[in-house]
Amino acid sequence: MALFRTKAIVLRSINLSETDKLTTFYTENFGKIKCVAKAARRIKSRFGAALEPLSHINLIYFGKENQELYRLNHCDILTSFQSVRENPEKLYTAVYFLELMDVTIREGDCQTKLFEFFLSALQCVENQSRLEPLRRVFELRLLALLGYSPSLGQCVVCRKEPINGWIGFSCFKGGIVCPVCIDQNPQEIRFQKGTLNYLKKLLSSDLKILERLKFPRAVEEELEYITHRMVLSHVGRELKSYPFIKLMAENAAHSLEDANNGQTRNQNG
Ligand SMILES: [Zn+2]
Repeated sequence: MALFRTKAIVLRSINLSETDKLTTFYTENFGKIKCVAKAARRIKSRFGAALEPLSHINLIYFGKENQELYRLNHCDILTSFQSVRENPEKLYTAVYFLELMDVTIREGDCQTKLFEFFLSALQCVENQSRLEPLRRVFELRLLALLGYSPSLGQCVVCRKEPINGWIGFSCFKGGIVCPVCIDQNPQEIRFQKGTLNYLKKLLSSDLKILERLKFPRAVEEELEYITHRMVLSHVGRELKSYPFIKLMAENAAHSLEDANNGQTRNQNG
């Protein structure tokens, strides 16, 4: 038996029995792992709120190396992300990120870089007010860190740089299809060349400055379509938390439109 110490983020906690919980963590040093938390469901549990999804914690657990289920020994909270929990759009965005981490990462697959990216994305959810660019970047960069970085410079069919016109995106080949090749290789995803530049910008921008990036509404919709289709193609199904985000983004767009229309009416009247 070995004792493991690491920082971690709680991805998921489910009830295992009347007293115990089964919790999935993404850890800094050992990747994704699962632990049984004995007596975690008792009111005076020694783990307290540290096993709530989203908590950033210090974690100690034990077991044999590479086993499927470990035993939780100790955890204490570093960050609870309380302000994220209190705001529905922030909360659903964070829950979507947790779900995406859980479904795309295999147990034992460990990258410290991925942990740092995940934690800083959650900090951006907490600190930023415009979350749409962050959601797109999270999808793109997570796939890139897992080894599925999209090819955006050259056409995946002819290997040439695309000229102006409609550009396609092949989830199967993981990259863009130029306007010449798109005729022989029709793609479900098509967008204007200008959108490609925004896509490149998303792939290379620092997470902390994302809030400042401004996209035309039509480009924002295209970007959502492209990056989320990449996720769907990778995962093979829609994620449970995503429809809530869609709904909130649409409501936010409508209220913005209403506000703009109101302004125009006031100016005209
Ligand atoms: Zn081509």
